[in-house]
Amino acid sequence: MTLQQTLRRSVSCSGIGLHSGKKVRLRLKPAPVNHGIRFKRLDLDGLEVSATAERVAGMNYATGLAQDAASVGTVEHLLAALVGLGIDNVSIELNQAEVPIMDGSAASFVYLVHEAGIQSQTTPRRFLKVTRPISLSRGDKRIAVYPSDHFKVTYSISFDHPLLRHQSRTQRVTEDSFIEDIAPARTFGFLNEVEQLRQKGLALGGSLDNAIVLGETGVLNNVLRFEDEFVRHKILDVIGDLALIGHPIIGHVVAHRGGHALHASFAQKILDDTYAWKLVESVLDDVEEGQSAATTDSDAPVLAR
Ligand SMILES: [Zn+2]
Repeated sequence: MTLQQTLRRSVSCSGIGLHSGKKVRLRLKPAPVNHGIRFKRLDLDGLEVSATAERVAGMNYATGLAQDAASVGTVEHLLAALVGLGIDNVSIELNQAEVPIMDGSAASFVYLVHEAGIQSQTTPRRFLKVTRPISLSRGDKRIAVYPSDHFKVTYSISFDHPLLRHQSRTQRVTEDSFIEDIAPARTFGFLNEVEQLRQKGLALGGSLDNAIVLGETGVLNNVLRFEDEFVRHKILDVIGDLALIGHPIIGHVVAHRGGHALHASFAQKILDDTYAWKLVESVLDDVEEGQSAATTDSDAPVLAR
């Protein structure tokens, strides 16, 4: 059994919204058991938006959520950091409609959670253990999840760009591997798309400080943090988008050329396909049947501390 976790104390930071370009202040606060991850718009009298698949709205090159009259944009990197570090319950206060982009990765949010400290709570966490394959495809984009004893992600990307043809990576996601191998990977974009995005009122806060920008002959930022930083960032994105399921996954996610819209639709499809998973308190402990499973696998559950 793994207990739910929240933060030990409140922490805050400020930054700018990648798409809005507006300055925003963010505060993470401890929350009670079974609260989940919820955003709170302080500029809208504290209206709340739950980080759940049913609240998905507005997928403009980022993941957006809306509930009642409130919306929150670009939630994915913060959500990835929270689930990557095993935070189940947190209230996220914002004074704007977009989570700050920081350096384009989840590293700042990992730092923030560590600064707050992690507090175990009194109620068991429930994992979503995949028991049958679930898949979704749109054109040449596809994503699936298969039964596995761990949370693992295989991602592959291919672009028609001389510097970024094909990258693929399989990552077993634990708290340590998330911090070291995934959280620092930055978002990326193509120089020839920047003008087009700005005409649509997007990427107004984008700069070389918060995104890897690929020009025709090279990476404008000069230095990559990892040789395969691009595909690592896609793993970060899918971890954040699948956080909208509301339970950590025990399964192997395999995606090819996905994006936020596909990831978010897949989160909803997983929730809809109830025959293909069960909620468990650990891989050894089946909530539905209340029996210990006859397995001696010792290196799970995933994301457990
Ligand atoms: Zn991203």
